[in-house]
Amino acid sequence: MSFPPCPQCNSEYVYEDQNNLVCPECAHEWDPNAVDTDDVINVKDANGTLLADGDKVTVAKDLKIKGSSQVIKIGTKAVIRRVLDKKDHELDCKVDGVGEMMVTAKFVKKA
Ligand SMILES: [Zn+2]
Repeated sequence: MSFPPCPQCNSEYVYEDQNNLVCPECAHEWDPNAVDTDDVINVKDANGTLLADGDKVTVAKDLKIKGSSQVIKIGTKAVIRRVLDKKDHELDCKVDGVGEMMVTAKFVKKA
């Protein structure tokens, strides 16, 4: 039994979970029978620029960090680790001085 590599990170350690395939490295789950073109993630920044994994961005407005009094200041740099197929907090980012957090795409600008 062998499965195709993970479409997000190319991991070969994909395993099957019910009808889905699961990647243990980036936690991506997908239906191998789904049509590929339905799977395109269209996430845009504050200027309408498409964002992709690995893009460098800056924060476009002051962002409060949930559950803390810390604020990420406008202009803070971040790197997108992963773009997710969600309604908000689509970006799994590594933010300068803060660390990993989920950020909403429309609150950043591509650097
Ligand atoms: Zn993966």
